Order: sequence, then C-alpha cells, then structure tokens
Amino acid sequence: MRPTPSPQTYRVKSFGCQMNVYDGERMAELLADQGLSPAAEGAEADLVVLNTCHIREKAAEKVYSDIGRLRREDGSTPLIAVAGCVAQAEGEEIMARAPAVRMVVGPQAYHRLPEMLKDAAAGQRVTDTDMPAETKFAALPQRRRAGPSAFLTVQEGCDKFCTYCVVPYTRGAETSRPFAALIDEAQRLVAAGAREITLLGQNVNAWSGEDDRGRAVGLDGLIRALAALPDLARIRYTTSHPNDMTDGLIAAHGEVAKLMPFLHLPVQAGSDRVLRAMNRSHTVDSYLRLLDKVRAARPDIALSGDFIVGFPGETEAEFAETLRLVDAVGYAQAFSFKYSPRPGTPAAAMDDQIAPAIMDERLQRLQEVLNRDQIAFNRASLGRTCEVLVERRGRHPGQWLGKSPWLQSVHFEGEAQAGDLVSVALTEAGPNSLHARLLQPVAA
Ligand code: SAM
Ligand code: SF4
Repeated sequence: MRPTPSPQTYRVKSFGCQMNVYDGERMAELLADQGLSPAAEGAEADLVVLNTCHIREKAAEKVYSDIGRLRREDGSTPLIAVAGCVAQAEGEEIMARAPAVRMVVGPQAYHRLPEMLKDAAAGQRVTDTDMPAETKFAALPQRRRAGPSAFLTVQEGCDKFCTYCVVPYTRGAETSRPFAALIDEAQRLVAAGAREITLLGQNVNAWSGEDDRGRAVGLDGLIRALAALPDLARIRYTTSHPNDMTDGLIAAHGEVAKLMPFLHLPVQAGSDRVLRAMNRSHTVDSYLRLLDKVRAARPDIALSGDFIVGFPGETEAEFAETLRLVDAVGYAQAFSFKYSPRPGTPAAAMDDQIAPAIMDERLQRLQEVLNRDQIAFNRASLGRTCEVLVERRGRHPGQWLGKSPWLQSVHFEGEAQAGDLVSVALTEAGPNSLHARLLQPVAA
C-alpha cells in the first residue's frame, strides 16, 4: 500500500460495554499524546478507530458495514483501525475481507497504537492481537481529563467460562491491576474533575491485590481506600459475578457512605437446570440468599441484573421460572438479551437451539415485567429527597441532568453546574428518568 500523510485528526467510535468506553477514552488520550486532535462534530476524521464488541449478534457484520460507510465519494477512505473484541476474535479475517482496514488491534494491545500508526502511515497493514503479560496500562499516558463521572478499569478478563460467552477468549484470563496504580489513576481522575468513579471489570468483584501496607485485599479494600480520597464523592462498580460477592464487599455496602446503593448482579436465568448448562456455578436459591444479605447490609439498595432468554434447550416452564425470579427480586432496572450463539463457545454447539420467534416472544414478556418493576421503583422514589451528581445540561433551557444515588437519571431546573452535588426532591417519575425540584447545593 502507498504511504499516506500522517493523520492529523481522529475519531474513536466505541460499541458495547463500559469497558469499551474506557478503552476508547484511553485510545483517544494516546492519539492526543501523538499530536492528533479529535475531529470536529460532523467533520471527517483522518483516522477512525472502530472499537468493537463481540458479545452478541452479528458483531462482525456490523463492523464490515461501518467500514463500508467510511468510504468517501471519491472511493478513498480514512485510515481505519479495528480495535476491541471483534478485532481480537476475527482479526485475520478482517484483514483478508476488508482491504481498507490498515490496523487491527486487540483489547490488550492498544497501547501499541502509536507505533502501529507510524507503520500504517508508511503504507503497511498491521495486526496486533497479542495478550502481553506485562500490562498495557503502564504504557498508557496519565489521565488528564475527566467528566464528573469517570470510569476506571480495575480488572480485566474472565476465567469463569460461561458456556455462552466469548469474553474469556477475547479478553483473556482474569487479571487485576495493582492497587497503587489504581489509587494513582483515581487521584488523577479526581484532580481532573471526577466526583464519581465507577470501577469496571468483566468480573469486577474478582479484583484482588495488595494494599499499601502489603495486606491482601479484595474489591472492598480498594473501595475503602478510594473512599479516603477527599474530593471523591461517589464510588460504584460493575459488573459483578455472584460467586465473587464476598461478605467483605457486602459489609462495605453498609459501612462506606461513598459507595452508592446500587448493585448490578447478573443472574442470567431463573432455572437451576439452565444455570448449570450455562456453567454459572450459582443456583437461583444461592443468588436470592446473596441478595437477602446485601439488602440486610444496605436496605435501600437498588438491584440490577442481566438476563439471557432462549438459551439452548430452555423450555417454556424454565422461562417461567425466570419470570418468577424477577417477581421475587423486584429489580430497579435490568438488561435482557436474546441468546446469541457465539462462534467457538460450547453453547453454540448444543442441540435444541431455540427458534428466533420464541426468543422474541420470551424477550418481550420478560421486558414487560422488568419495565413494570423499573417504573414501580421510580414511582416509589417519589417524595424522596436525595443528592444528585450533576453531569450535564439538559435539552431544555435551564435544565440539568444528573444521577441519583440509585443510578436513576434525574432532571431539574435551576442554578447548578456540571460536577455539583445538589440536594433535590424527586417530584415526577417516568419509566427512564425522574424530574426533581432543586433544594440546595450540597457541595460545590
Ligand atoms: N461477567 C458478567 C457476569 O458474569 O454476569 C457479565 C459480563 S458480559 C460481558 C455482559 C452480559 O452479556 C452478560 O451478563 C450476559 O447477560 C450477556 N451475554 C454474554 N454472552 C451472551 C450471548 N452469547 N448471548 C446473549 N447475551 C450474552
Ligand atoms: Fe462471560 Fe461473565 Fe460468564 Fe465471564 S462470568 S464468561 S464475562 S458471562
């Protein structure tokens, strides 16, 4: 390929989970460190990074159509890099099928983007899907920008091998970032304006490390250390696995005021047979007992979960068990998905794949009950006074948007600015957001 002028502007387009959003931010910081500027809204970028997700449905097909859309009228394209989990899983195929792609970079290798960029600008096509033992994080630039609510990846990868899931293959084995590096990154995020940090990991509550006194600690130890940062007001974490929900972490929910009363704890299904086939290693009963403990520690906790409908072999009676579980828990919000066979996973080769029409129908029924509970949770919040972390302006003049402690979107009118913690009274509840009356600022 012919050399191209070095790119001056970039755009990073992230799909999928919050960990991809975090990776996208870090790639943008790396590119900015190389002297590139973000492309203006609506303008074409010289370099486009497609930061892909492989968790469900036709992910690769979406990448190819995105690549197609980047073609300009004269037939030329920007410099295209495919990053993320599709790059990891299908890098070689992408290179073979999409000649416009100049770089393929996996989620554990993106710290090498600057060198890859030089090679790509010199006319080469470069792939890096290594999963180096030495962490990419050490090679990334320090954090210098943050909004009021920032993400911090503390743990990556997964050793659990649920039979439907690609994560152990695309993100590699479970690893925890060192305690000191995380405290350092959190301090920098706070110095750059973050008031809330959400700790991220594919199984974030599997995080483990050694604290500054050399003691072995779990995620609760990290949360307690972060809570000591004076300007950090709120801490959240996601996504957790039921098996890693330790007593220490549950206790932290009752004891650490900065830890928000919200827990995303995916269960996936309400039938023990399906859970066994999924290799989930928890039962419906053990999950419910866990939630009882969490509620005992923090009675006002808002619960969230993930569900998969139509796992191979799921019967109507087994699906009805999922509906019963939802009734028993009363989720404040939840994510629900149709099972999607992922190439190379054990479930993709199982007999009794469920027909798409049945999956559609089950998903609709599940979402009806989840929506019902979400509205009920929001309505039950009416009359409450709470703190809202202001994130940005709303669509209407004088309107601000922020989040309640229970992760509800809240809008209100009045004097405020992004990053403020304000006290509000919740006055109206919709399915996806609440309206509030501003009482007074809690802290500037
Ligand atoms: N580690 C977390 C756990 O075990 O609960 C979840 C992380 S996973 C990246 C996010 C969610 O995607 C899962 O909880 C699951 O509901 C969904 N998911 C994963 N593989 C899927 C598949 N093949 N089809 C449909 N949904 C899937
Ligand atoms: Fe995927 Fe979560 Fe299961 Fe790991 S524990 S394999 S990330 S669903």
